[in-house]
Amino acid sequence: MKYKTLLFDVDDTLLDFQITEAKALNALFAEQGIDLTPEVKTSYKALNHHLWREFENGKMTREEVTGSRFGRLFQQFGQTVDSLEMEKRYRHYLNQGHDLIPGSRELLETLAPEADLYIVTNGVSQTQHQRLTDSGLLPYFKEVFVSEEVGAQKPMKEFFDYVFARIPEIEKSKTVIIGDSLTSDIKGGNSAGIDTVWFNKNQLPEISEIQPTYRIDSLNELLRVLEIEKD
Ligand SMILES: [Mg+2]
Repeated sequence: MKYKTLLFDVDDTLLDFQITEAKALNALFAEQGIDLTPEVKTSYKALNHHLWREFENGKMTREEVTGSRFGRLFQQFGQTVDSLEMEKRYRHYLNQGHDLIPGSRELLETLAPEADLYIVTNGVSQTQHQRLTDSGLLPYFKEVFVSEEVGAQKPMKEFFDYVFARIPEIEKSKTVIIGDSLTSDIKGGNSAGIDTVWFNKNQLPEISEIQPTYRIDSLNELLRVLEIEKD
């Protein structure tokens, strides 16, 4: 294989965050007795996406994102809610979601004997650890790096410096990051000086400033990219 060290993103790369998020939002709104209309759902997704970009750019902390998102959402509809309490309940449901992206377990089973696998994820530590454990994916990884514990997040160089310092005998030329996000995974990998695989399963448009080394639209294709022989 071309690479010795594989860094995997979690959400929408190995675990289906879209499903997890939808289930958690449904459960939260049902519990609160609030109608989750398509309009509210669309507004939440747009707001949440925006807030996490602010986080990636270092303009907001993780706590500011998660602690304010429900308050901001309901503000848009002229209502006031206890943002922190809603976040707590939402997280309770989020922690339970661990739907696999099709083929992810089989992929890791094939790769684990061939290379050293690590998790690199932006997120809340307890949530990510619980979801990786419950999904059965955790044993395939040598170590899990969550931004909350690292103290920096993808795409920041500090995040990757921290990770590289903790991987024994890492060779950057034999290291690749695999993820679905151009702005965190691919941009981060590029500035850290490693190869990148953009998993673009929803055929999102390219961003010209952020160029991945490889593009795939299903996890199966990763084996070809990594030049592993399939039998
Ligand atoms: Mg992701």
